[in-house]
Amino acid sequence: MASNEELFRKIIAHAKEYGYIFPSSEIYDGLSAVYDYGPFGVELKNNIKEYWWKSMVQYHENIVGLDTAIFMHPTVWKASGHVDAFNDPMIDNKDSKKRYRADVLVEDHILKIEEKIEKEVEKASKRFGDSFDEKMFRETNPRVQENVRKMDEIKQRFYPALECNDLVDVKRLIEELGIVCPVSGSRNWTDVRQFSLMFSTQMGSVNEDASAIFLRPETAQGIFVNFLNVQKSARMKIPFGIAQIGKAFRNEIVARQFLFRMREFEQMEMQYFVRPGEEMKWYQYWKDARMKWHLSLGIPAEKYRFHDHEKLAHYANAAADIEFEFPIGFKELEGIHSRTDFDLGAHQEYSGKKMQYFDQELNESYIPYVVETSIGLDRTFLAVLSQAYREEKLENGSGRVILSLPPRLAPIKAAILPLVKKDGLPEKAREVMDALKYDYRCFYEEKDTIGRRYRRMDALGTPFCLTIDHQTLQDDTVTIRDRDTMLQERISVEEIEEALKEKLAR
Ligand code: ATP
Repeated sequence: MASNEELFRKIIAHAKEYGYIFPSSEIYDGLSAVYDYGPFGVELKNNIKEYWWKSMVQYHENIVGLDTAIFMHPTVWKASGHVDAFNDPMIDNKDSKKRYRADVLVEDHILKIEEKIEKEVEKASKRFGDSFDEKMFRETNPRVQENVRKMDEIKQRFYPALECNDLVDVKRLIEELGIVCPVSGSRNWTDVRQFSLMFSTQMGSVNEDASAIFLRPETAQGIFVNFLNVQKSARMKIPFGIAQIGKAFRNEIVARQFLFRMREFEQMEMQYFVRPGEEMKWYQYWKDARMKWHLSLGIPAEKYRFHDHEKLAHYANAAADIEFEFPIGFKELEGIHSRTDFDLGAHQEYSGKKMQYFDQELNESYIPYVVETSIGLDRTFLAVLSQAYREEKLENGSGRVILSLPPRLAPIKAAILPLVKKDGLPEKAREVMDALKYDYRCFYEEKDTIGRRYRRMDALGTPFCLTIDHQTLQDDTVTIRDRDTMLQERISVEEIEEALKEKLAR
């Protein structure tokens, strides 16, 4: 079994070789943390978007879609708090010249202590077997207690220091905890500084009255500023939601994790507008609903976990992440935030325009509260891809690489393969292709032996191969081969559409 790092490297190489992901501007040695989606990557990405969009906009009668511009009035980012607070504390190691997020260094340190505790509990659980009382053990074991105390002490100092921007104390804490640079192994750190994550550019001609504007760092603000336009034009009644998929840009400090942390990426966000005081009910509702969505992809439940935030962003009164076990460990995939009336309230203040909703049932006006679900499209892509990648040893001693993608997300649904390039088989295969291609993304291939074509389709993640052979010409049947089991059955050409429909619903 490959180590996680090795596995991650293999997935990245596979994604390039099979036309899923290319580094941006590769002929110029690439652009850091920017990637392009290849012919099969774009299909998988579109399928994920569609799956999310349907689950939000089509299946909920009270959620509508929106597509807002990337450029927005600069005051939007003042009101949202991004101009003043969308920073990350950064620190450099003077020996390795590597840059890190200071908060991540401390959080990783806390995580290590947490792992020690869990190991202790696991060991004891094995030792005591059925009679193990985990709660009592956690409360009384001196080593566990000592580590809990250490963790609490760090948290009690670290979060307030971040909150009041006391970067000197954050640096002191990093030194006191003896945190070393993973590359150089040294403790030779610079001071901690704040770094704005927003990209800015100029609008208008530079010589004239050009004004600085930002590339949006999140899609949510486009929804907030259009809240009343949407509510009135689509006649929405609270509670209702607005969903959007679009690009976001962040000048990330540390961006060396493939699609996980990019400088240009896509978000799928939904803001749900509710009555003040009802936000916790909806926050819980969306936490559950979003986890169900992830599980509906058929990925095992143990790959996901919730992480409830202790340190809340300036706009939130509750927040949780859905974390996924990527090859680089459990990391945030989606955020569910109860954003209160912070955003609409701030836009009302800065724009001077009322952002209130008149609730007919209550006969009163108020600024709605918002519960948001915000998921990274590229991170979802990476989650699906890394979960799907498998290397298998076959019974005959040979091996294969397979992308076991959920059929409904797979870029190509079926490959149409004439067994040989003669005897009228290609012509028959073309007929099958033409009958299917308007409803399903199919792929026709006649080059190479059938075995090699099967392997290539396995590696591309194509769930079904339809092979046209000599028997097809006699009785109008083909074989349909399942990517995961490699089993083949014979079905009549007439039955193909029905069979695909049934299998692709999985
Ligand atoms: P992180 O803590 O990992 O930086 P975040 O908490 O800043 O993420 P949010 O602002 O909540 O992220 O954004 C919502 C979602 O957008 C995240 O859950 C993630 O899936 C995605 N996302 C955020 N930043 C990036 C990025 N640089 N590259 C790819 N996806 C991202």
